[in-house]
Amino acid sequence: MKIFNVEGKKGEKTFGYIDMFEYPHGTTEKLPICIIEGFEEGPAFLLTGNIHGDELHGLVTLQEIIQEIDPSKVKGTVIIIPSLNPAGLLVLKRSPFYTRADPNRLWPDPKPKKEPKLKYVDHYDENLDSDKHPNIQEIFYTKFAQILPEVDYFIDLHCHAIRSLPFSYLDRVYYDEKKEGEKEKSEELYQKTRDLVEAYGLTLVLEGPPKHYFDEKLQRSTTGSFVNKFRKPGFTVELGATGFVDIDIVKIAKKGVWNVLKHTGMIEGEPIKIDTIPVLNDTLWREIIIRSSSSGYFIPLVKCGEMIDKGSPLFEIRDIFGNIKETIIAVERGTILGMWDDIRCYPNSELAVYLIENTIDVVLPWEYEKKDEEDKKNKKD
Ligand SMILES: [Zn+2]
Repeated sequence: MKIFNVEGKKGEKTFGYIDMFEYPHGTTEKLPICIIEGFEEGPAFLLTGNIHGDELHGLVTLQEIIQEIDPSKVKGTVIIIPSLNPAGLLVLKRSPFYTRADPNRLWPDPKPKKEPKLKYVDHYDENLDSDKHPNIQEIFYTKFAQILPEVDYFIDLHCHAIRSLPFSYLDRVYYDEKKEGEKEKSEELYQKTRDLVEAYGLTLVLEGPPKHYFDEKLQRSTTGSFVNKFRKPGFTVELGATGFVDIDIVKIAKKGVWNVLKHTGMIEGEPIKIDTIPVLNDTLWREIIIRSSSSGYFIPLVKCGEMIDKGSPLFEIRDIFGNIKETIIAVERGTILGMWDDIRCYPNSELAVYLIENTIDVVLPWEYEKKDEEDKKNKKD
């Protein structure tokens, strides 16, 4: 398999770099890539990490997979990019130093757009529109995405928070209502993707319903774009803390990678259950945010991944002397997915992410929001 200038060879691990762009001082930024090609034909599996430069568990997991994988035992091709954001890694920051945009919101947008009909058209409309002038990171990811039609599976490894349960994010699948058979095809894609997430072996968390998802431009994340634009199974894994490496998390992440390679038949063997951390898949989860309503210091009363009944206490907000100002209780049965590494809070501060049961469709037409508004309007009329 040839990816830009780097050509894999059957039965070998090939290491190389893809040119990204030119720095002002004239040198070229390059993306590291390893192509592991088996002798036998099979699927192409893309594994990436560190698109957020301070998220290190994916990087280290993929380094170890590269070292341990035996190309002669692979059916198909495994493409590994340990860092999708080498400049962010240099400065250990979420975004690269040359642009502040979130690199995980710059991938090809699958959402159909309606151009507004304007009464007044200005010669400089396009000149003034920042969306028509992508930054160098977006230009490169758009170029890189040219390989995605050749890729069958895609997993992007991230980190979430210092006190968070490792888990996988699964995107809802959106489809064009006007095209016949699209709903059924999307349901099939959703199920195939869900099977892959389950094979990986961590807690499955659905990405938010449409409003939040599109507000956050998550359809332009690596795997949001892959699932919804390229219509193939992909998902994001969230591996605990940023900024340092916990070898136990790397072990879990690596087990997951071997599991999906086995699940797709690309290497021999059966997936092995992850049992060193809680894996909570008795319910299909989605996340909500826990906020404080007063200023003070927030102290958790439970651990991430511990099942909590509706009405049970989750956090205490204390004043400087330790008096309890507020007790935050669980609005539904669920668990804390991750809590932020802080103690200070103000009214409306975000303290943690909490999992509740998903009740919103997982396969939705693109027009969902608009239709929903129209339905509400019709009811009123
Ligand atoms: Zn991330």
